[in-house]
Amino acid sequence: MKLYIISNRLPVKVSEKNGTFSFTRSEGGLATGLDSLQTAYEKHWIGWPGICVDNDSDKQAIGEKLEELNFHPVFLSDTQIKNYYEGYSNSTIWPLCHYFFAYTLYKDTFWQAYREVNKRFCETICRLIGPEDKVWVQDYQLMLLPGMLREAVPDLCIGYFHHIPFPSYELFRILPERAEILKGLLGADFIAFHTHDYMRHFISAVERVLRMNFKLDEIQLGNRVVRIDALPMGINYDLYHNASTQPEVRQAVDRTRKLFGDHKLILSVDRLDYSKGILHRLRGFAAFLEHHPEYHGKIALAMIIVPSRDHVGSYAQLKTKIDEEIGSINGAYSTMDWTPVYYFYHGFSFEELTAMYHMADIALVTPLRDGMNLVAKEYVAAKSENPGVLILSEMAGAAVELTDALLINPNDTGQIERAICQALEMPVEEQLRRLQNMQKIISTQTVDKWAADFTDEWNDICRKNISFRKKQITANAIGSIKQEYNRAKKRLILLDYDGTLAALKPRPEDAEPTPELIETLQKLCEDSDNHIVINSGRDHFTLEK
Ligand code: UDP
Repeated sequence: MKLYIISNRLPVKVSEKNGTFSFTRSEGGLATGLDSLQTAYEKHWIGWPGICVDNDSDKQAIGEKLEELNFHPVFLSDTQIKNYYEGYSNSTIWPLCHYFFAYTLYKDTFWQAYREVNKRFCETICRLIGPEDKVWVQDYQLMLLPGMLREAVPDLCIGYFHHIPFPSYELFRILPERAEILKGLLGADFIAFHTHDYMRHFISAVERVLRMNFKLDEIQLGNRVVRIDALPMGINYDLYHNASTQPEVRQAVDRTRKLFGDHKLILSVDRLDYSKGILHRLRGFAAFLEHHPEYHGKIALAMIIVPSRDHVGSYAQLKTKIDEEIGSINGAYSTMDWTPVYYFYHGFSFEELTAMYHMADIALVTPLRDGMNLVAKEYVAAKSENPGVLILSEMAGAAVELTDALLINPNDTGQIERAICQALEMPVEEQLRRLQNMQKIISTQTVDKWAADFTDEWNDICRKNISFRKKQITANAIGSIKQEYNRAKKRLILLDYDGTLAALKPRPEDAEPTPELIETLQKLCEDSDNHIVINSGRDHFTLEK
């Protein structure tokens, strides 16, 4: 029995030396959480290996290396990456789900490539899976995949987790392919989101776009039920909480201390993305400097931006604006012995990053929208006994759990400025109390717990769906039913309507009884030994018919 985790990218780092490729596992949050998952299933990953190769011998060499790690590559061409990944995934779905609909591009080539790549994933999975295996699909790049898999392997146990926000119906309806996307997702047995709001938005989109009805958190589709839930993803708490005891991290702390001296340190860490509110943060910091000259020379903002998606036009423009804004702040306020903003446009190692978390007096996290935001959780976890204040946007999924942060609206520059002042003046006891309250939550809701909760609930719904399907009358059973029928002197026949006599239809008005059904019922009623009951929630007009 195997559990296949399907994600756009395999969790690997690629290196090439003299024409030989080698791969090492990259320890992202998801990979760590799934590694720790206790399950009887052997874990395998399927995804794009992160490089485009043309010739078959390279593909074979890469495939063989990856198989050693239980990784199975889906090779994509440059054009597919351009249209499926940078195109439909990151220029259509991503901006829409983050409420940046003005950035959303609709191009037929994007949609065609998205379908084509989802299909390619589907074919690879179908080639690999056995009858008892399960498939867990990750994220917005693969929303059509559950539906494609359901069609190809109707009894397959399929899960899906949506790692980004699911927008309100008013936004989602803008997408030309809204119905196909929802139908694709509903191919899964279990679908989960980070928060109840995202889950509510998904239900509302299904009900209004597809005109199907949920009963609380479940929807019946033919011979199976789809369940949805909110399961906030956590972090590897112990890793961050105990990091400062590692010698490499202690050395990095010393280096960081030398760099920033005894300035109060505000930390900001993001991938380059317009959803992260980086410009709003800089404006908040600039307003703070303007109105609080008493802090000049005593405070520094360390701004870490990890390059991302720089082939997408809106990202390249954002980078230019950030460079200009930082230049303008430093130009206005720097002195011979003080620079207000330290700008790093590259990624940091785990040791360097946790050293920054450990040191920083304030973490300033101001996304305009964020599915979760793990940086906020990592900062809180990395505080072992030292104080610190988290300033967090209420638009981040993490704000649902981290209510002891100073919650701000990132569009309110004044509120960011006031939160910085409040954080700088907050008594140490209050800082520690708030941190401990948040640590209690995130040390329980870890990434391991998230993965275990997902698989428990998913297993439960798959078991129900399997036993539900087994109850269907098989060809073999029909013979014995006929025998029993003929032998009985009196017969009470209880019939359900939707999904039994009539195929389930999304729109009630489409569920017309067929002439064959009416004829069969009439024949049954003509025999005075039969008593027929139809049990239905439909209105009496439908039942009269
Ligand atoms: N991160 C990192 N090195 C860096 C900056 C960030 O490894 O230099 C990691 C960080 O620890 C976090 C992730 O990148 O786990 C960012 O996750 P988040 O949910 O905050 O944002 P996303 O990039 O997924 O939108």
